[in-house]
Amino acid sequence: MTAPLVAPLFDRVAIIGIGLIGSSLARVIRRDSPATHITACARRAETLEAVRRLKIADDTTDDAAAAVKNADLVVLATPLSAYAAIAAQIAPALKSGAIVTDVGSVKEAAIRDIAASLPKGVHFVPGHPVAGTEHSGPEAGFAEMFADRWCILTPPPDTDPAAVAKITALWRLARMKIVQMPAEHHDRVLAVTSHLPHLIAYTIVGTAFDLRLVTESEILKYSASGFRDFTRIAASDPTMWRDIFLHNKDAVLEVLGRFNEDLAALTRAVRHGDGDALYNLFAERRAIRRGMINFDLGKPAPDFQSAESKPRHDPMPRPYAAFDED
Ligand code: NAP
Repeated sequence: MTAPLVAPLFDRVAIIGIGLIGSSLARVIRRDSPATHITACARRAETLEAVRRLKIADDTTDDAAAAVKNADLVVLATPLSAYAAIAAQIAPALKSGAIVTDVGSVKEAAIRDIAASLPKGVHFVPGHPVAGTEHSGPEAGFAEMFADRWCILTPPPDTDPAAVAKITALWRLARMKIVQMPAEHHDRVLAVTSHLPHLIAYTIVGTAFDLRLVTESEILKYSASGFRDFTRIAASDPTMWRDIFLHNKDAVLEVLGRFNEDLAALTRAVRHGDGDALYNLFAERRAIRRGMINFDLGKPAPDFQSAESKPRHDPMPRPYAAFDED
């Protein structure tokens, strides 16, 4: 066998949590860095059995500490609520110089729950690939899921630049566009672009079905998109979304407060038959939407105001499953 021309980015990678996101990243590494050894960790035997069947890792284990031994890179890809316990469990087993990253949808809490446990000499680079579907588990993953989407890195200011560069290179393998921002800003941006839309989707689907206003066949027939998109969002994993709202509480409450005020104003206008108020509001929102089209709304690239983005042409973000094609 001929030796690879370029050394792999990482010799040994441990992926803790090998569901939709973890398994998609494993597939990317398999595809583009075949010499890298991958250890996959999950709790359930069925999950690990699926990983072996899919051949997306070299080793499987349910022991996170054993998984990270000798790893150059450790990727946490479990639900957010598992982070603190896993970080404490793996900390003594991490080798000096190892890089730890994560893929969690909320970043301040991820830093709080992981960084505190990590020993000196281990580098932590928090990350969030803004890509996904409403499905879960290793069978649902696919390498192309990340292509052309944004990956947001939120390294605290004292993070080792070489570690940040390696995590940037990792997500570039997945064909992602990379941007860096403070964790707090990430959480506020995602509260608006992803978390609030999911909350609305969960609510509206519940309202429609509780009131028995629509049947399933009516949704399929009369909502080519719109309401049907809401039902897709509401099919997302309840554990993940519970954790997002528990871990991004402040930013979500702030956005939700403003949203409720706007909705109350609209409700009042409808109740009072205030055509001027309705017209003015819709005209204003149409202008916003038309402005967004100038930002090339069709492509899945948010304007995070980075040096890498081109603000005048960047479209609005797409929360995971929300507006993906069927
Ligand atoms: P998922 O498909 O449900 O997979 C979660 C994985 O974590 C499973 O392999 C599960 O193993 C494992 N796990 C759970 N608790 C564990 C523990 N205590 N120790 C070891 N493994 C554990 O979830 P996902 O959608 O990939 O989401 C994972 C992370 O990615 C979340 O933090 C989420 O915020 C973030 N994210 C998700 C999306 C998306 O669209 N889904 C997008 C961007 C970021 P078992 O099967 O054995 O329980």
